[in-house]
Amino acid sequence: MKVSNWIANEATSASAWLDDLNPATSEVIARIPRSTAQDVDAAVQAAKAAQGWAEAPERARMLRAIADALEARIDELAELESRDQGKPVSLARAVDIPRAVANFRFFASAIEQETLEHHPMPGALNTTHRKPIGVCGLITPWNLPLYLLTWKVAPALAMGNTLVAKPSELTPLTADALGRICADILPPGVLNIVHGLGPEAGQALVEHPYVKAISFTGGTDTGRRVAATAAPMFKKLSLELGGKNATVIFDDADLDEAVPGAVRAAFANQGEICLCGSRILVQSGIHDAFVARFLEAVGELVVGDPADPATDVGALNSLAHRDKVQGYVEGAFEEGAKVYGGGIPDLPAPFDAGAFLRPAVIADLPHTARCAVEEIFGPVVTLHPFDTEAEAVEMANHVEYGLAASVWTRDLSRAHRVSQALDVGMVWVNTWLLRDLRVPFGGVKNSGVGREGGRWSMEFYSENKNICVKL
Ligand code: NAD
Repeated sequence: MKVSNWIANEATSASAWLDDLNPATSEVIARIPRSTAQDVDAAVQAAKAAQGWAEAPERARMLRAIADALEARIDELAELESRDQGKPVSLARAVDIPRAVANFRFFASAIEQETLEHHPMPGALNTTHRKPIGVCGLITPWNLPLYLLTWKVAPALAMGNTLVAKPSELTPLTADALGRICADILPPGVLNIVHGLGPEAGQALVEHPYVKAISFTGGTDTGRRVAATAAPMFKKLSLELGGKNATVIFDDADLDEAVPGAVRAAFANQGEICLCGSRILVQSGIHDAFVARFLEAVGELVVGDPADPATDVGALNSLAHRDKVQGYVEGAFEEGAKVYGGGIPDLPAPFDAGAFLRPAVIADLPHTARCAVEEIFGPVVTLHPFDTEAEAVEMANHVEYGLAASVWTRDLSRAHRVSQALDVGMVWVNTWLLRDLRVPFGGVKNSGVGREGGRWSMEFYSENKNICVKL
């Protein structure tokens, strides 16, 4: 299979190509363009020429048409996402692709229902207007490929911008499918997709003078580089970066909820979600009971063929990433940790060549240990006991990241108190990753700058303009 760049609704070729692998088998499943700065420039020029492409009601109609087209191909897209990313098909079918559909429907409704402010003053009236920014550059990671790409494309289109998207070179397939779908729905140049390497195509996009805003989701180090390039050019910048999120279990937690909740938070999507709860802090009174039930539940997770409906944990995104994750587990062991599970599973061909890792639970290391503070981004979780509420907050906040947390308790006052004290952008109480698309999404500290979601996305992808009329 050959993946194309989509520029002005044309599938365009490239002068060099990259291999795209299925991480569950290490087979080459596609070749993708290794785009150059010239390819990026062609996409940006197409986007620049397409500005002013439709009024809001027409844009809403097109967003709904894209949603319908994605929904009609849900099984095919779920299968593509799984083959490209390694996640279970069942997860892509239940979560990733339906969420991509919802992203378009949500922002179609949002622009239809948008209200703007007027500020009357004696003898004059101020009206506020939202204008498109112009050409926006969207850069996305490999963990939730279509889910996160459409989380940017939908609001950016809704607000009337034209776009150049650079999906992860590791998971290009559903972006290619989106480009094909949109070529039949959007005017030429409105959505352009260029594939390629981050330091080449991604960097060229961030550097391009016609690109007025960059929305980036990815690693913290890459985000730092993107910010260093974009800030002196005064580009609007949204950075959704890494996380090292705490799952905080208090003595009064309902273990029937907290155990499966903590398992899901730690290992959903192989632990490759920025929001994953990769550090579990457990109050001493419930510690042993929780750990026993948690380890039993983790031991029941099925690792293997992502196409098998029984699979809970698929392949990690690449062998290189699997080795990096495995390196953290081995490092923890050398530091004296007790490690439950982990290791490379014994799977039949062709999965014996895939990037699989059994879920690993690390105990008996302080909450300051390397594996407890650095983002591992795989099926690895650390366990830490605590005594008091203050201690839990101190431990949870003792990382450079500040994306999300979950708090498990039956005490409503404590839930509020602890949620307020945690240095993060999002807290879930007695649940994890329950999403309402209207709420602000984003982190503090090294987890990013800015918010996406609902009116925050609409704010980011537009420029507010005030007109003051003397009466
Ligand atoms: P990454 O930073 O390696 O790559 C992300 C994207 O940036 C890719 O498309 C890549 O090609 C591109 N890129 C790389 N170098 C670039 C450069 N110099 N200029 C411009 N673009 C460049 O991240 P990844 O490994 O694909 O994804 C995993 C990371 O993403 C994790 O740290 C995870 O926490 C984070 N993430 C954050 C969120 C969030 O919402 N906060 C969501 C998902 C993933």
